[in-house]
Amino acid sequence: MLNILMVGNGQCGNRILDSINKQAFGSKSRFAKFYSKQQYKSNVQTLAINTAVNDLKEMKYTKAKDRIHIPHLHGVGANRNVGRKVFDENKSQIMRNLDERGSFDIAFVITSASGGTGSSFTPPLIRELKEQNDYPVYAVVVLPFREEGTLYLQNTAFALKDIRESGVDGIILADNQYLKQMGGDMESAYDSINEMIAKRLIFLLDSLDSEMMMVTDLGDFKTVMSGGAGIATIGYYEADGEVPIRTAIQKAVSPSGLLFNTNVYEEASRSMMIIKGDKSYLSIDEISTEVEKLSDSVGHVFKGIIVRKGEYPRVLSVLTLESASELEELYHLAVDAINTEKEKKERVQEDKEVDKAFSQIEGLEPHY
Ligand code: GDP
Repeated sequence: MLNILMVGNGQCGNRILDSINKQAFGSKSRFAKFYSKQQYKSNVQTLAINTAVNDLKEMKYTKAKDRIHIPHLHGVGANRNVGRKVFDENKSQIMRNLDERGSFDIAFVITSASGGTGSSFTPPLIRELKEQNDYPVYAVVVLPFREEGTLYLQNTAFALKDIRESGVDGIILADNQYLKQMGGDMESAYDSINEMIAKRLIFLLDSLDSEMMMVTDLGDFKTVMSGGAGIATIGYYEADGEVPIRTAIQKAVSPSGLLFNTNVYEEASRSMMIIKGDKSYLSIDEISTEVEKLSDSVGHVFKGIIVRKGEYPRVLSVLTLESASELEELYHLAVDAINTEKEKKERVQEDKEVDKAFSQIEGLEPHY
């Protein structure tokens, strides 16, 4: 049995964590009676951290004792300098809470890259976790919609760099911009994106702790994640009918299944493929042919097969990337955003037009 820690920082991290709790641990939720039993055998502990109390209150499926509020008025207002300071001031409380949860085999820290709290808490939190423990820590990082503005873009650029330099064992990217085709208004897009991310993480955790026909385990996952440039993403396909396993595998690495825009055949560096379903769908020949196709361009592909009686095929792919053109484009945008913010600030300091306006009434008094 694996002991797994999942931390969700800031609003986005909190909500994805709540979606994980909703999907995986239904038995403890308010819909308990609809679920027969806890489906996953790992010991998973979830912890939501936020400066904004309302974000924590919004959570429906995460227990109160698993939500830590770090008081700072109404959040940190997308200001990462403030966020970092607030984390430092509250570090011992946060780390004590984590210590009390015992020891783990693996940890995930989920956050958006662009906001204030999550993006500034995540790098120092990972650094602390790595210094105090010897289990691997992975960041699950959500990238913003590109039209969300200059502050979010510049936060993303610095946050990703900070997370990479935190000692993290790998970063799994999910991109709101890429996933927004889910459609609907912002809130339902968020819900669908969160569900997609949660579903993939749960499938991954479940697989790492499964007895497989052919084994992949935590060791293989670590090897995959340590490949490439420290950046990874996850693909997934779930058949809702009888689908040949080769099609399911292809779909799990195709654009419609991935959380981040990448051409797997050009940019991936290592991969892990977990294939699940009823024995009747799991043609070893088909699986081998497809996996070989992928390993021809990717290099190494670990594969795991899990037999689940009566289930249609499901395939999950973990892919580490050696290059990421989408990320390069995002950094181009971020550099423009940083320059725009800088120029704006300089302009305000240089010609204090507003000050000039006010200075006109200096020494005068109102007359009635
Ligand atoms: P924080 O609370 O200060 O860490 O800030 P947020 O987590 O709200 O960060 C803002 C970014 O997160 C923006 O790019 C939002 O689009 C994104 N975001 C906020 N909530 C969600 C959510 O529930 N799901 C997803 N996928 N993204 C979200």
